[in-house]
Amino acid sequence: EDEVLIIGSVLDLRGKPVSKVMTPIQDVFTLSMDSVLDKETVTKILSQGYSRIPVCAADDPMNFVNMLLVKQLIAYDSDTSLPVKCFDLTPLPTTGNDGARPDTSCLDILNFFQEGKSHLALISNSQGGALGVITLEDVIEELIGEE
Ligand code: ATP
Ligand code: ATP
Repeated sequence: EDEVLIIGSVLDLRGKPVSKVMTPIQDVFTLSMDSVLDKETVTKILSQGYSRIPVCAADDPMNFVNMLLVKQLIAYDSDTSLPVKCFDLTPLPTTGNDGARPDTSCLDILNFFQEGKSHLALISNSQGGALGVITLEDVIEELIGEE
C-alpha cells in the first residue's frame, strides 16, 4: 500500500506545474549586484537561514543571473564592506536560456536537480522576468510531505 502511494505521488509530479510549488519571487530573499555586504547585511543574510541567495542585475530587479552561496561568507570580513559583484558568484541554474517556465512539471524539475547542477532553479516568464524559485526540498515536500 505504501508502495502504491509513493508511486502514485511520483506520477502526480508529472501533472503538477512548478508554479504551484515554487516560492514566489516577492517572498524570495535576494540581493543586487550592487548590494554592499556590510555587517548589517551579513547579519540579515545569516538570520534568514537560506543557503542560496539569488542576485539580480544592479539595474533590473527582475533579472537574476547569479546566486551567492552563503557558505562563501565563512571567510569574509564584513568590515571590508564589499559589494556582491566582488564575490565569486555561481550562475543561477536555469533549465533553458532564461529559466524554467511556470508550467514546467515538477517531475521535469526533479530530473533537472538529479542531473546534479544545483538544488535550486529560477522560474521565469517568457520575457525572462523572474516569477519564483524552486528547490529540491520543495519537490520532496510534494512527494512525501503531505500524506
Ligand atoms: P539547504 O537546506 O540546502 O541549506 P535552504 O535551507 O537554504 O537550503 P531549501 O531547503 O532548499 O533552502 O528550501 C527551503 C525552502 O526555502 C523552499 O521552500 C525554498 O523554495 C525556499 N527558499 C530557498 N532559498 C530561498 C531564498 N533565498 N529566499 C526565500 N526562500 C528560499
Ligand atoms: P549542499 O549541496 O547543500 O551545499 P553538500 O554539497 O555539502 O550540500 P550534499 O549535496 O548534501 O552535500 O551531499 C553530497 C554528497 O557529499 C553526499 O554523498 C554526502 O553524503 C556527502 N557529504 C556531505 N557532507 C560531507 C562531509 N562533511 N564529508 C564527506 N562527505 C560529505
